Amino acid sequence: MEKNTSKKHNVYTSEEEKTLNWNDVQTSFKETFGSEVYNSWLQKISLMKEYNDYLILGVPTRFFRDWIVSRYLDKILAKVKEFKLSLNRIEFKIIEEKQNQELLKINELNKVTEIKDSILNYNRLNPHLNFENFVQGKSNDIALSYSKKVCEHISRYNPLYICGGVGLGKTHLLNAIGLELQNENNVMYISAERFMYHFIKSIKKNDMVNFKDFFRKSSVFIIDDIQFISGKESLQEEFFHTFNSLMDKGSQIIISCDRAPMKLDRVQDRIKSRLAGGLVVDIESPDIELKVKILKKKILEVQNQFKENIVLSDEVINYIASESKTNIRELIGVLNRVIAFSRVHKKDLNITDCKNILKDVFNQIRVITVDKIQNVVSNYFNIALSEMLSQRRSRPLARPRQIAMYLAKKMTSRSLPEIGRRFANRDHTTVIHAVKTITRLSHQDDEMKKNIAQIKSLLLEQ
Ligand code: ADP
Ligand code: MG
Repeated sequence: MEKNTSKKHNVYTSEEEKTLNWNDVQTSFKETFGSEVYNSWLQKISLMKEYNDYLILGVPTRFFRDWIVSRYLDKILAKVKEFKLSLNRIEFKIIEEKQNQELLKINELNKVTEIKDSILNYNRLNPHLNFENFVQGKSNDIALSYSKKVCEHISRYNPLYICGGVGLGKTHLLNAIGLELQNENNVMYISAERFMYHFIKSIKKNDMVNFKDFFRKSSVFIIDDIQFISGKESLQEEFFHTFNSLMDKGSQIIISCDRAPMKLDRVQDRIKSRLAGGLVVDIESPDIELKVKILKKKILEVQNQFKENIVLSDEVINYIASESKTNIRELIGVLNRVIAFSRVHKKDLNITDCKNILKDVFNQIRVITVDKIQNVVSNYFNIALSEMLSQRRSRPLARPRQIAMYLAKKMTSRSLPEIGRRFANRDHTTVIHAVKTITRLSHQDDEMKKNIAQIKSLLLEQ
C-alpha cells in the first residue's frame, strides 16, 4: 500500500486509498510538457491530498495557480487520469513555500479553490480561434500575414500591434498566435482588463513581487484591448515596466487595440511611442467578398458540427453580406439567426423569408448606438444630457443614467468598459452595477418596466 516513500515532494495523503506515485506523475509531466514548461511550472506542483475521484494539488502562488489552470489544467487532468482513471477533478491550494504538512489542517481545506466554476478559466486560449478558421480578405490580409510571420520569427516584429474596430477579428488573431506558439514558448495571453484586475488584486494583497515575476516570465506576451489602460495612471506605469522588461529579455509582445497607438487618449506619450515602436498593422472593415467567404465557411462549420445540411442560396448569402454592417461578430450573429429559423421551420429559406427574419435584426443593428440611447433616455426623463453624464449622484439623475447604461448593454454590441467610457469615463464595474440594478427593478417595479418598454420602442422607432 505505501508506495509513496520515495517522494521528495510535499505529500499529504488522505486515509483514502493511495494509489498515485507523484514522482511517476511528475516524470510523465516532464516527458509530456517538455523540460522548459516542466521546470518553470509543473515541477512546483505538489500532491497534497488524494481522493478517489479528485486531487488537491499545492501551488506556490495565486498567479501560479491561475497560470496552471488557464494553460495546463486539461492536460494535467488527462495525464493523471492515465495513472488513476477514477480521477475527474483537480483542485488547487496555495501553499507558502515552506509550509509543512502540519499546517494542512482540515479547516484550511475549505479555502481550496474549486476550479470548476471558477473565474480563473478566463485566461484560456480558445482552440477554435485559430489560423485555420480565420478567413483571409483584403481588409485583414496584412494583419494576418504578419501574425503568421511573428509565429515563424519571434522578436523580429516587436511589438506587433494589431488595431481595428470592434468585431473585426483582433482577438481571433491574437488567440491564433497564442495557440501557434504555446507549445514551444511560455505564452501569456491576457486582456488589458484582466491585467488590471491582477494588478489591483496584488496591490491589495501586497503581492507585487509575484505579479511582476509572473508576467515578466513569459517569452510571448499577448495583451488584448490595450485601449483599456486609458486614463489609468498606475496601471500604465506598471504596464510600461512590464513591457520594457519583456522587451529587454527578448520576449515577443503582441498587442491589440481599437485604434492606432498615437490616437490613444490619455495614455502616456512614452507608452504610445513604445507601442508604435515595432510593427503596426490594422484590420479594416470587411468588403462584401470577405463577408461572403466568412458566411460560407461558417455554414460549413455548422454543417460539420451538427451533421446537418444547411441550404442557403447564394442570393440569400449575398443578401446577408450586403445588408449587414461591417462588424463580423454581428455578421455571424445574423447568420446564426437565419440558420436557427430554418431549423425550426425545417425549410430551405428563400430571400423573402430571409428578409422578413432579418428586418428586425438589421434595424436594431443599424439604428441603436450608445449616443442615441443617451439622447433618447435624457429626453424621456427630461434632463440635460450633460447632467445625465455628470458625476452627480442624486436619484433623478442616477436612475436615468443607469437605465441608459443598461440599454447600452442590452441593445448595442459595446463591451462594458466601452460603455463605461461613453458615460464620462466610468469604470466597467459601474456599468455592471447599473445593469444589475435595472434588471432587478424592471422585474420588481411596474413603473420601471413600463419606462424601459417605452424607451425601447422610442429607440426602435427612430
Ligand atoms: P475583435 O477582437 O476585433 O473585436 P473578434 O476577434 O472577437 O473581434 O472577432 C469577432 C468574431 O468574428 C469572432 O467570432 C471571430 O472568430 C470572427 N471573425 C473575425 N474575423 C474573422 C475572419 N477573418 N474569419 C473568420 N472569423 C472571423
Ligand atoms: Mg476583441
